[in-house]
Amino acid sequence: MSLLKLFCPVARVDSVLDVPVAWIYSRGFRGVVLDVDNTIVPWNTDDLSPEIAQWVESLKRAGLSVCIVSNSGGVRRVEELAKRLGIDCVTLAVKPSKRAFRMALEKMNVTPSETIGIGDQMFTDVLGGNRMGLSTVLVRPMVKRDFILTKFVRLVERVMLKVLEKRGMMVSRLEYPNDE
Ligand SMILES: [Mg+2]
Repeated sequence: MSLLKLFCPVARVDSVLDVPVAWIYSRGFRGVVLDVDNTIVPWNTDDLSPEIAQWVESLKRAGLSVCIVSNSGGVRRVEELAKRLGIDCVTLAVKPSKRAFRMALEKMNVTPSETIGIGDQMFTDVLGGNRMGLSTVLVRPMVKRDFILTKFVRLVERVMLKVLEKRGMMVSRLEYPNDE
């Protein structure tokens, strides 16, 4: 059970846009760790939608610290995205390793328990964040295109998600201000 918990996000939602700023803030989170590929942009692109740019802006306006943590080898692309969004970034992260998360927490000057990690992959974003003691939210990948290895991992992920769903370990909606 506790091993399973390492793979379990608090919620699985369609998109970062389904993670309300008010929810994040009201739960006491002060730091937000963001994955890049298939979380805030379609895989391996810099196609940042105005909606997501605005969502990040609203996080900052709420006084939250935001930091990208990305495994991508496209360091320049990730750095450019972070710059456009006006947020910090940690590149070449090797998630689920804890190291990059630790660096992100340092940059944001927040503790693990006051930080929420958001990403599209269970075995990097969720596992890494949970290992570091963050709360995590899993979003559906923006596009089907992905790193070739990731496509295989998704098969296992799908099985794991079924198990977690069946056990009622994660919610599918983050409501605010209504109670859930
Ligand atoms: Mg990703």
